Amino acid sequence: MSVNLLTHLSKCYGTDNVETVARRAAEELVGSDLHPYDAGHRFVDRRVTEALQNLGVTVEKVGRSEASYLGRLYTTRSGFTIKIVEEIPPTTFRFVLSHELAHTLSYKASGTGPRRRFGNSKIEERVCDRIARQVLIPEDLLGNDLELLRLDDDPMPIADIKALSQDYAVKPWQIVRRVAERRPDLSEHFVAILWKQTEPTVFIIVDSVHPDGIFVPARDRSFSDASTNHFPWRIRNSIAAASTLESVRVGSLSGDLETSGFSYNFGGHHWVVQLSRLDEKHRGQIDRWRAARTIRRSRSS
Ligand SMILES: [Zn+2]
Repeated sequence: MSVNLLTHLSKCYGTDNVETVARRAAEELVGSDLHPYDAGHRFVDRRVTEALQNLGVTVEKVGRSEASYLGRLYTTRSGFTIKIVEEIPPTTFRFVLSHELAHTLSYKASGTGPRRRFGNSKIEERVCDRIARQVLIPEDLLGNDLELLRLDDDPMPIADIKALSQDYAVKPWQIVRRVAERRPDLSEHFVAILWKQTEPTVFIIVDSVHPDGIFVPARDRSFSDASTNHFPWRIRNSIAAASTLESVRVGSLSGDLETSGFSYNFGGHHWVVQLSRLDEKHRGQIDRWRAARTIRRSRSS
């Protein structure tokens, strides 16, 4: 198996649990010292600033025309430079900065500056997003609040999600992702989808949180009724015939939302959609799909 940031950190921390790995990585980067009055995004920003200083990272803003990315990490003889595109919203800037900070974990020190331990990968990008969420929405500070945020409640606690996102200067979508990621029980059942409304009757999926095995179409223009999506949500299953999930409930989240891929810059009106919890039949199908995939993988290796 090839080494990547996740396998490297799993070995360092002695655990295969991705959530624990991401939390430990965030602690390694920005520390875990708390004082009784620490709270809010200014406290998080102070932690990040200290981490950048300790690692010898300078931050440089570049024009949109010079860059095809929102942020990128470069090595220097004494540390790193993070180049970030200017004129992005503060919430996006903070996320990009934390994501790039997480990439420093892939390097080791050498006489001529930091050297990569292994090549970059899609896994590393996903892990850096997850570490960035742990940095910006810290477990030591917000674990209790996140525990109380019941995404599977009806209706969804949208006001609480928005309040937390404002206090911590992250997009509401990052809170939704963070809650789903820290609860394995939820991530087995839960599908959350971020839609972008491009026309009065056109909704396009821009991001989703869903269990492994659920097929969420990337572009779905299928619904003209803003309250329910009638698209047949498929569970990807090579054994049984494709099945459909229940209809989708739509919860409105006004304001500017962001996906974990941070390559989107939205304006206008957006929606978070939550599917009803999967029932036992669907879960069984997902389990069979996973088992079949595992068998195929072990045969091909
Ligand atoms: Zn990256």
